[in-house]
Amino acid sequence: MSVLDPTYDVIVVGGGHAGSEAAGAAAQIGAKTLLITMNLEAIAKMSCNPAMGGVAKGQLVREIDALGGLSGIVSDETGVQFRMLNLSKGPAMWSPRCQSDRMLYAQKMREKLEQKENLFFRQDNVVDLISDDGKSIKGVVTQTGQKFFAKAVILTSGTFLNGLIHIGESNYGGGRSGERASVGISAALENMGFEVGRLKTGTPPRVDGRTVDYSKLEEQFGDEDPSGFSFLTEELPSLDEQLSCWIGYTNKEVHEVLKTGFDRSPMFNGRIKSIGPRYCPSIEDKINRFSDKEHHQLFLEPEGWNTYEMYLNGFSTSLPEDVQYKALRTIPGFEEVIMIRPGYAIEYDYFPPHQIKRSLETKIVEGLFFAGQINGTTGYEEAACQGLMAGINAGLFVQDKEPLILQRSEAYIGVLIDDLINKGTEEPYRMFTSRAEHRILLRQDNADLRLTEIGHKIGLASDERLQKVEEKRKAIGELDDLIKDYTVRPEQMDPMLESKSSSPMSQPMKAVKILLRPEVSLQDMMDYDSELSEQIQAISTDGKVLEQIEIQVKYAGYIEKEFEMVKEMEKQENMLIPEQIEYSNIKSLSTEGTQKLAKIRPETIGQAGRISGVSASDLSVLMVYLKN
Ligand code: FAD
Repeated sequence: MSVLDPTYDVIVVGGGHAGSEAAGAAAQIGAKTLLITMNLEAIAKMSCNPAMGGVAKGQLVREIDALGGLSGIVSDETGVQFRMLNLSKGPAMWSPRCQSDRMLYAQKMREKLEQKENLFFRQDNVVDLISDDGKSIKGVVTQTGQKFFAKAVILTSGTFLNGLIHIGESNYGGGRSGERASVGISAALENMGFEVGRLKTGTPPRVDGRTVDYSKLEEQFGDEDPSGFSFLTEELPSLDEQLSCWIGYTNKEVHEVLKTGFDRSPMFNGRIKSIGPRYCPSIEDKINRFSDKEHHQLFLEPEGWNTYEMYLNGFSTSLPEDVQYKALRTIPGFEEVIMIRPGYAIEYDYFPPHQIKRSLETKIVEGLFFAGQINGTTGYEEAACQGLMAGINAGLFVQDKEPLILQRSEAYIGVLIDDLINKGTEEPYRMFTSRAEHRILLRQDNADLRLTEIGHKIGLASDERLQKVEEKRKAIGELDDLIKDYTVRPEQMDPMLESKSSSPMSQPMKAVKILLRPEVSLQDMMDYDSELSEQIQAISTDGKVLEQIEIQVKYAGYIEKEFEMVKEMEKQENMLIPEQIEYSNIKSLSTEGTQKLAKIRPETIGQAGRISGVSASDLSVLMVYLKN
C-alpha cells in the first residue's frame, strides 16, 4: 500500500521552473495534482545566474504573470535589483530584468505552491513510467518503489536526465552541482519509441564577495523607478534599497592563463560531445573563437540579501579547477579572491520537440506532457512558460476540455512553442525578440491586455487580476477619446516644443497630433497645460496607463499594419489538417515536404507553412488536397 494517496489527476515530475509553474497551474484550474521532486528545498532553484528576465525573456515572464502564473510575483518579491533593458530602443524591445535572491526565490515559490489547495508534494525520484502499452500514460514509479497514478503526467526533469558534470578531466553523474542525476526516465521513454538527444550547458564559478577589490570594478545600479514583472506588484525596493552589480573585464593575461588548461578542457579534448547554448558561450569558447578580442566583459552579481556569495556572469567554464582559480585571480579586482564553487559544464538528455503537440502533450503517449529543458530549451523563463502551458493543458485534458493554444500573434509563449515543434532544436533554444515576427504587438507593457482575460477564463488568473486589467483598458479607452478630442493651443505648447527643438504649432490642434511627435511625451504636454493635466488625472493617475496610450499613439501605424498581417495569417491558422492524414498518398508533394510533414504532423496549414523544407508549392498542393 502506498504511504500517500496514490491517485491524482495530474502528476508533475520535477520541481524546477517548469515544474513549479506546471504544478501551480494544474492545481489552480482544479486538477488534483502531485508534485514529485528530488529535493523539496530546491523548488524553482536557479541553477545558473540568480536573475529572471532580460531581452525577450522579460516578455515571457510578463506573459506568465498576465496569465496567472507565479514566476513574476516571486521575482518581484525576491528581487535585489531591477532594471528595464533597451530603453533607448522602441517599446517592442523594452525588457525587464530582475536580479533575485537565489535562496529566497526557492523559498517563496514553495510558499506560493503550498497555498494551492489541490496541490500535494512528495520528495522522491521518479525512475519509471507506467503506461498502457506505451499508448497512454497511467502513472510513475519512484525509487522507493511507490507507484502513483494519474490521467496526465508532466515531465519537467531539466538538466537531470542522465546528467554528466564535467570539470577539467574529472566527470561524474549529477543533475546539477551537489545533486544527483535522474536515471530511468530516458530509458523508459526510449522504450516507448521516443527519440532522445543530448545537449550541454555550463555555469561560472561563484566567489566570496568580501575578497573582491570593488575599487577596480565599475558599479552598476538598478533603476531609480523600478518596474517589476507582476501586474499585481504595487511596491518595489527603491534605488537605495537595491543591491548593485559590478562590471569588470578579463585581459590578455587572464586569457593566457585560461589557455594553459585547454589540453585538459572537456570542451576541447573531445569529452564533451554535445552542443551548448551558442549565445551563452563559456569563457574558453569565447577566447578561442574571438582570439583577436583583448578583453571580455564580466558582471559580478550578488546572490542575495544575506550572503556574500557572488556570481561571475560571463565567466562560465569547465576548465580544471586550478586553472579557473588562477585565471580568476588574474582579473583586475580579483587578485585576492576566494572561489566558493568552481564553474562546471553538464551534459544531459533531451527529447527533440517535434515529438510534442502544440499543447505540449507528446504525440506518442496520450496524457504525457513535456515542459522545460527536456524539450531542448535553455533558461528559467523558457522553462517556466512551458511549464505553465503544460500545467494548464494537462488540467484541461483531465477535464476533457480543449487545450489552450497561444498563437504566434498572441504571445512570445506561442512563438516559443510553435518554433520548438516546427523547427526543432539542435542546440539549446533561447528566446530572442527577433524570433517574434509580431513583436510590436507582443510588448512587455501590454501582456496583461493580451492575456489576462484568457488566463481568467480557464480559472488561472484571479478576479482581482481581471478587474485590474478591465480598469486599465477602460482608462486607456477614455484617455484615447480625450486626446483625440482635446485641443491644445500654441501659447501653451510652443515653449515646451521649443525646449525640445520641435517645430512650433501654427494653430490650435488636437492633443493627439502633438503626442505623435517622438520627442514629446504626454507628461511634457501635461506640464504645460494644466487643464489637460487635470482631465487626464481625473481618468487615471497610473503611469502605466499613460505609458500605454503614448505607445499606442506613437506606434499606431506599425501596430495597425501588424494587425492586418495577423488577420491574413489567421486564415491559414484556422485551416485544420486532419490528424489521420497520410502524406505519402498526396502525389504532388515534394519528397522533403512529405518527409517533414509526416515527421512533424502539423495541426494547421499555418503551422505546415513554418516547417523548414515545406515549400510554398507543397503548401498549395496540401490545400488543394484538403479542399477536395
Ligand atoms: P530544472 O530547473 O533543471 O529543474 C528540474 C527539476 O526536476 C529539479 O528540481 C530536479 O530535482 C527534478 N527532477 C529531475 N529528475 C527528476 C526525477 N526523476 N524525479 C523527481 N524529480 C526530478 N540557463 C540559461 O538561460 N543560461 C545559462 O547560462 C544557463 N546555464 C546553466 C548552467 C547549468 C550548470 C545548469 C544546470 C543550468 C543552466 N541553465 C542556464 C539552464 C536553466 O537552469 C534551465 O534552463 C532551467 O532551470 C530549466 O528549468 P526546468 O524546470 O526545465 O529544469
